[in-house]
Amino acid sequence: MIVDFHMHLPGGHMFERWTTAQFLKMMDDSGIDAGVIFTIDGFFTENYVESNNLLYNQTSECPSRLIPFCSVNPRQGQLAVEETRRSLSELGMKGIKFHPWLQGFSPLQFNIMDPICELAIEFDVPIIFHDGTPPYSAPLQIGFLASRFPQCKMILGHGGLFDMWQEAVIAVNRNENLSVCLCGTAPQAIFSKIVSSVEPDRLLFGTDAGFGKDNYMPRYRVDEVLKMPLKESTKEGMLYKNAYRLLKMADQAK
Ligand SMILES: [Zn+2]
Repeated sequence: MIVDFHMHLPGGHMFERWTTAQFLKMMDDSGIDAGVIFTIDGFFTENYVESNNLLYNQTSECPSRLIPFCSVNPRQGQLAVEETRRSLSELGMKGIKFHPWLQGFSPLQFNIMDPICELAIEFDVPIIFHDGTPPYSAPLQIGFLASRFPQCKMILGHGGLFDMWQEAVIAVNRNENLSVCLCGTAPQAIFSKIVSSVEPDRLLFGTDAGFGKDNYMPRYRVDEVLKMPLKESTKEGMLYKNAYRLLKMADQAK
């Protein structure tokens, strides 16, 4: 069983639009059973109502496998708060995805971040952040925000990418509410170091499926992780059990 905690639905602005059937076929070809899915074009258009609606409509075609997270730009202030509430309540989105580096805000702008973190607590949904590219997406910046909201479940979406994995480990170990998604993270030796440096229940796996044109990449990432010499319980946690727990879908993990 593999739950991919980091996928994107290309929506037709910057990236060629995929149908839901195409996306599901890619998941089948890659061995991905279900996954958390975000916008990608939304980060370039600022029209979050449109991108959240598109994501909602397409994931509604297969809700058992496609788990949508909404996106907003906190710089839009009250508009962003209202769109987050609409996405979580009316559309039933299961979490929130931010890309501070592309969206041009800092996770430490508390005046705009606090109301959204409070909404995530109210709806008991996780917030996943792109991380690994300063400025604005350094793991310790996100860790600091996590420390201000211990009840808010937060996730580093990339484990520091290539350059900031040590910082990602520090951020996760400092904050019990922070998990790390190993997606696009540095090659195997570093990947293994992260896995052995944090509690196993904080590990998630992701492929960035849907981002970029390399259709072989999700399959490659899945094959890579399946071949790694990890304890079975660690692998199970990373590949689906921890995801189900964060998403409150615990029954399916049995
Ligand atoms: Zn991504």
